[in-house]
Amino acid sequence: MKDLTHYLNGEQVDGTSGRFADVMNPATGEVQTRVPLANSTEIDAAVQYAKAAQTDWSATNPQRRARIMMKFVSLLQSNLGDLTEALSREHGKTLPDAAGDVQRGLEVVEYCIGAPQLLKGEFTDSAGPGIDMYSMRQPLGVTAGITPFNFPAMIPMWMFAPALACGNSFILKPSERDPSVPLMLAELMEEAGAPKGVLQVVNGDKEAVDAILHHPEIESVGFVGSTPIAEYIYTEGCKSGKRVQCFGGAKNHMIVMPDADLDQAADALIGSGYGAAGERCMAISVAVPVGDKTADQLIEKLIPRIENLKVGPYTAGSDIDFGPVITRMAKEKIEQLVTSGINQGAQLVVDGRGFTLQGYDNGFFVGPHLFDHVTEDMDIYKTEIFGPVLSTVRTKTYEDALNLATNHEYGNGVAIFTRDGDTARDFANRVNVGMVGINVPIPVPLAYHTFGGWKKSVFGDLNQHGPDAFKFYTKTKTVTSRWPSGIKEGGEFTIPVME
Ligand code: NAD
Repeated sequence: MKDLTHYLNGEQVDGTSGRFADVMNPATGEVQTRVPLANSTEIDAAVQYAKAAQTDWSATNPQRRARIMMKFVSLLQSNLGDLTEALSREHGKTLPDAAGDVQRGLEVVEYCIGAPQLLKGEFTDSAGPGIDMYSMRQPLGVTAGITPFNFPAMIPMWMFAPALACGNSFILKPSERDPSVPLMLAELMEEAGAPKGVLQVVNGDKEAVDAILHHPEIESVGFVGSTPIAEYIYTEGCKSGKRVQCFGGAKNHMIVMPDADLDQAADALIGSGYGAAGERCMAISVAVPVGDKTADQLIEKLIPRIENLKVGPYTAGSDIDFGPVITRMAKEKIEQLVTSGINQGAQLVVDGRGFTLQGYDNGFFVGPHLFDHVTEDMDIYKTEIFGPVLSTVRTKTYEDALNLATNHEYGNGVAIFTRDGDTARDFANRVNVGMVGINVPIPVPLAYHTFGGWKKSVFGDLNQHGPDAFKFYTKTKTVTSRWPSGIKEGGEFTIPVME
């Protein structure tokens, strides 16, 4: 078993801190390798390489940077098999789902190929006599990102593709649970033509994160992960004077109106509630049928679908619906929450407890669960479970359902299933959540729109990818220019105004 490394200045570099974390295979429960955990000296080395590389990189014209992105896209495609296998082996998600993880990141890279257009500035000819005014977007310098375990390909690409396209260098601190794909991405980016030091990967835990947050030469920090850490990173990063955007946890509701096609709604709940073992920030974890009749019919349709779900290791290919959860600790947390749901009075309609799989007794598998009669005061409603557990909260009216989603502390995604255009339109306008699906259960915007929740699902203002990413990774400089022949008067002591 060979230990993983960092990726610094174009080289695989062994860790020097002496600290490591085990990288597990969640399907077997076995340690498959170790990842080094960086200290502040290693972070500083990365920053110095990133600084040295950034000067020339920012002076490379945007079209040449875009060509490197194009080559990177084609390398992602030709290496898809290896990336997908490594991703599933460390994360546990199915191979087709792992391919989707890579693909949704790749689409952001494709968007970033438009950098020459997106970075074009603004120009006003003759803003005054002989005066021109122009604004340009300039890179920040050394930027950094801290990413979660659940999308080890997509989320790093959401960050580093726009950062690099804008002319920054980028230091990625991926999740220590599944670091192999981020390391592979950095190598592919260099194979595509990115100069050494422009994209580096430093593995680590809180110690590395704190070193990033307090390093004076890192200009910005992007974070995706759980809400408590998002809040911590936002606060600490801002205190250090950095530009920070942090995306946190979620509890996504799906409102099912009495006029909805209930078979469609049930299918949508199965995919969005149990896909990737519920380990998606846009997973639907709360079904909200309106009216008891809708609820009874929906539950009736859900039960056989859930009982037929196939849970297994990624090696089963597309024969399984979802795999294990990421760690033994995650499995235990989910089981504790299920117990709390029962103790607090929810009805466990499909009981996934005690799920085992022959030959994978030590894997971190959790069977699918369905709760009915969940109420707002229960822990399974308030907490992000991040597992294959769907809670049903019955409501009497549309307004009750709308209020439920609006009042929850998280506001990442939400969906409504209905055939009524007026209801759908009213819902989209009034709900207090950042991403809304109308008969779409997981409304993750495409690369050329932006991704971001509201309330406790986000700290900061700009969203990820789309035009917001080009704002986050650049700062605006505005030049007012007059050539000597246009200067008529002598010294001026009052502020110039447009008369
Ligand atoms: P996490 O918060 O445990 O870890 C995220 C990152 O923070 C990792 O790189 C980790 O090493 C680092 N980290 C962990 N503890 C830290 C600490 N005490 N101090 C500093 N850094 C620390 O999240 P996770 O378990 O990897 O990912 C799952 C979470 O991410 C879920 O809550 C999910 O909803 C959220 N998520 C949100 C989005 C979004 O866009 N809103 C997308 C994906 C995942």
